[in-house]
Amino acid sequence: PIEPWHIGGPVIKGFGRGSKILGIPTANLSTEGYGSLLSEHPSGVYFGWAGLSKRGVFKMVMSIGWNPYFNNTEKTIEPWLLHDFDGDFYGEELRLIIVGYIRPEANFSSLQSLIEKIHHDRKVAEEALDLPLFSKYKDDPYIKSST
Ligand code: ADP
Ligand code: MG
Repeated sequence: PIEPWHIGGPVIKGFGRGSKILGIPTANLSTEGYGSLLSEHPSGVYFGWAGLSKRGVFKMVMSIGWNPYFNNTEKTIEPWLLHDFDGDFYGEELRLIIVGYIRPEANFSSLQSLIEKIHHDRKVAEEALDLPLFSKYKDDPYIKSST
């Protein structure tokens, strides 16, 4: 287990690849001000809880890193909220508590294998977050205060 940590801010525009290419939307957050936090935590896939302004608290699985498949030159913070929303929520306040680490960032030889891996990560996150060890964090005051 890891020591839980927080990130938050308004949802910003990414490259539009999450939902358009992968079928997996990721609500990007600015990395500004999080330089030291991000360098303390290795790139990879994490899970936790997301508080989204006035909408509620949701499970999330998140990539932090360089997205080697897409050759990004900047580190990104990209949580996938495990909930079906009617539309976009750009600009809305999103607060995360990150409670677990699934795997390091990896490169994939095909988009299909990347997508399969992310769906497996999602399953791992969903199940882990039901455990008392991790479910208790959905009441975290920082993420709740955004809702
Ligand atoms: P971008 O590259 O701009 O981040 P994406 O293709 O990754 O675009 O889509 C992310 C956007 O989709 C989010 O900013 C949000 O407004 C919206 N969205 C809708 N449903 C979800 C969800 N379940 N998880 C994350 N974002 C979602
Ligand atoms: Mg995105």
